Amino acid sequence: MPRRSSLFIYTLISTIIISVKAHNLDQQIPLVLSNHSHPRPSWSSPPVSNPTKSFWTDTPNANPLAHEGSTGPLGFGGEDVDVCVIGSGITGISAVYHLHRYLEAQGSGGVERKVVVLEAREFCSGATGRNGGHLTRNPFSGYAAREHNYGKENAKKTYRLEDYVSSSIADIVHSHGLVDTVDLVKGDHITLFFTEEEEKRALQDYKDAKEGGVDLDGVKFLDRTTMFETYGANYSGVFFPSYNLWPLKFVSGLHNITSSTESFLKLKLHTLTPVTSIDSALPSNSASKHTKWIVTTPRGALTCKNIIHATNAYAPYLLPQFQDRIIPTRGQIIALRAKTSLDRLQRLSWQANLGYEYWFPRPEEKSEDGECKPPLVILGGGRDTAGPGLDQYTVDDSVLNGRVSKTLREFLPDLFACTGMFEEGREPEMEWTGIMGFTPNGAPIVGPIEGLEGQYIAAGFTGHGMPRAFAAAEAVAGMITSKMTGTEWEAPEWLPEHYLTTWEY
Ligand SMILES: Cc1cc2nc3c(=O)[nH]c(=O)nc-3n(C[C@H](O)[C@H](O)[C@H](O)COP(=O)(O)OP(=O)(O)OC[C@H]3O[C@@H](n4cnc5c(N)ncnc54)[C@H](O)[C@@H]3O)c2cc1C
Repeated sequence: MPRRSSLFIYTLISTIIISVKAHNLDQQIPLVLSNHSHPRPSWSSPPVSNPTKSFWTDTPNANPLAHEGSTGPLGFGGEDVDVCVIGSGITGISAVYHLHRYLEAQGSGGVERKVVVLEAREFCSGATGRNGGHLTRNPFSGYAAREHNYGKENAKKTYRLEDYVSSSIADIVHSHGLVDTVDLVKGDHITLFFTEEEEKRALQDYKDAKEGGVDLDGVKFLDRTTMFETYGANYSGVFFPSYNLWPLKFVSGLHNITSSTESFLKLKLHTLTPVTSIDSALPSNSASKHTKWIVTTPRGALTCKNIIHATNAYAPYLLPQFQDRIIPTRGQIIALRAKTSLDRLQRLSWQANLGYEYWFPRPEEKSEDGECKPPLVILGGGRDTAGPGLDQYTVDDSVLNGRVSKTLREFLPDLFACTGMFEEGREPEMEWTGIMGFTPNGAPIVGPIEGLEGQYIAAGFTGHGMPRAFAAAEAVAGMITSKMTGTEWEAPEWLPEHYLTTWEY
């Protein structure tokens, strides 16, 4: 969610003239025989083994796949694996879902494909299991800079992609009867403007996006008086439709949809299995452009024909060449009990302070005597008060930042002062951290990795992965399916060219 740094970078980039051109995916590139030809940055490591406990992962019975495949033999009895997916967050499991879909659609030439997911910790315990739960598409923010830097069509596609992802996720949830399981809420979202400058910029972005032809259905600006009288917050803002959900449960649902269907795709999930290195299975003097990769873990190694790096913030550990392009950035969240009913709070999701703070109420719960308890509110943010370094260049989500804890505890009682909706001094019921992967321009990085034939990446969601990762995963799954079935990959109509690794800056 945090956007101040990406807004800053967009503005900065808008002053630079960039020559842009997309590359053909089939270009001839020199082959590299190991992922470790660059030194690993000192801050990179696999995910730490003792993360803070999040509401989404550590509520009893929330994560039945937590330890799936963590013991026993790896893979398929020594046979080569067609696709090894590293990471079991929304990107990794969406990639498996799309591979399954594509292979079914193409008949896979009658060939069975083997797919293995390797996860360092418990199932979905990275950012996806520790985030704010917002599936909030960005309807228009940053339009002018995107058009300037990447052209009108690519700028428009950045918004279309988010629309595509949120409606696809909602469709999957509905069509598989998962609405209650994942607590999908189609509510409204409000972004508050704490300063006039923020409001002016949003109005300008809105105008530019409208002129550029972006679909702005449902977007409404609210003045301060209306906002206060209707919602209790004493700031102006903008209002648009959005979703929130339990991300881990959605990802578990996607996994189950894929693994329970008879298909050409055979899936194995191995949790508690960190990948520590990747090397070519070819001899170093081989002239072949096609290689297989030996993926090493403490439990043994697998030979993989293709690899998807779905490791987001952690990508530079196995791909040190991305160390300047994906910056691990720690976010913090609290689950705070409100003092009032859900009816009074309303089922809205919110963000404020340039996206630094974001929150929404969970459904109401019943106490043991059958009384409705006020809802828990999931509130993230406070990174602008984290102190020097703003919690960047760290992958340690085993600790909390005390300054951020203070900011989060004070935020809602201050914002809704005199409404009686939140109690000053109330301690949160849970508090945790997670690691986001920021990119310098805020755009994800999607596609084949130069010099590492058969390896692909979908990462760098810059704190805004829920409405983007599913599509990034679809793109790499499409590329790999095309390669396996000998067909030409066609970019989906919603995919901005500058998200691709082959885009030249
Ligand atoms: C505190 C916080 C709040 C956020 N709030 C929101 C929000 O409200 N809305 C929104 O849109 N986005 C939000 N985000 C961002 C969003 O959660 C991410 O963009 C998204 O979850 C990224 O998904 P992913 O699958 O790419 O990465 P992850 O979910 O991080 O998954 C990567 C997985 O790879 C595994 N892994 C890493 N290295 C290795 C290795 N070497 N071997 C094996 N496995 C490995 C990790 O353990 C992890 O499970 C938030 C993020 C955080 C941290």
